[in-house]
Amino acid sequence: DLKRNDEFGTLADSLNHMASTLRADNEKLKMLNEKQSQFFADITHEVRNPLHTISGALEMLELENLQPEKKKQYMVTAQKQIKRVARLFEDIKTLQRYDFDESFISRKKIDLKQLVVEAEQAYQPIAQKKGLELVAKNITSCKVNADPDKLEQVLDNLISNAIKYTLQGTVEVGFEMKDDVVEVYVKDTGPGIGPEHLDRLFDRFYRTDKARSRDKGGTGLGLSVVKGILNAHQSDIKVESKVGKGSKFYFRLPTLD
Ligand code: ADP
Repeated sequence: DLKRNDEFGTLADSLNHMASTLRADNEKLKMLNEKQSQFFADITHEVRNPLHTISGALEMLELENLQPEKKKQYMVTAQKQIKRVARLFEDIKTLQRYDFDESFISRKKIDLKQLVVEAEQAYQPIAQKKGLELVAKNITSCKVNADPDKLEQVLDNLISNAIKYTLQGTVEVGFEMKDDVVEVYVKDTGPGIGPEHLDRLFDRFYRTDKARSRDKGGTGLGLSVVKGILNAHQSDIKVESKVGKGSKFYFRLPTLD
């Protein structure tokens, strides 16, 4: 009988354990579900605005006796918004991938020097057009094990944000080697980001100023894409910022010989 009691005890323990695992799984599923629903609600909202603007511009284009300058203006508006929707779906595609497939990065030995110099050259015309100075600082050869395309996207997003939100001054991109890690950074003399935003800055669709971000063609997904890509590299994105002074976004990667 004693032995039987023991067996029942063990059985009851395992049943209890199973029940609590199931409860935890259920909670996780519920949270995932809520996150998914929120994500879809956000997307719907984000697509509705540009579609509204495009439809308005098309209506105006139908008017007779429209002045050529006005016509041009409406065309540009429509095109800008179409590009924004396209960018939004590109970002969503990237986010979906890293959510459901951790192996979406494909690492190889690459030189950061080449990546940073290429990014700087690609953004030089846009920076110059805005009257900003874009510089790549202290660039030497530095080998890391990373996915070159994804890292290029990280630099693209950080540099384009810096240029987008900075009204005057300098955007600097570079890296510093410290022992066996390298710290890659993008620094600007822009408006800075208040401490109250820092917790949620890398969340999907979070913006410190919704109107300004949309006006500049932002999708609100750039930084969450950056975070996802870096997490897949076992790294993380960090920010230091002072309102009125500027921001510095940076991340670390182990260096190779
Ligand atoms: P967005 O498409 O709106 O730029 P991101 O995810 O790239 O989306 O950035 C989220 C928000 O973080 C932006 O809307 C902006 O408020 C803020 N932000 C990002 N980079 C900078 C920066 N360099 N300077 C100031 N604010 C920034």
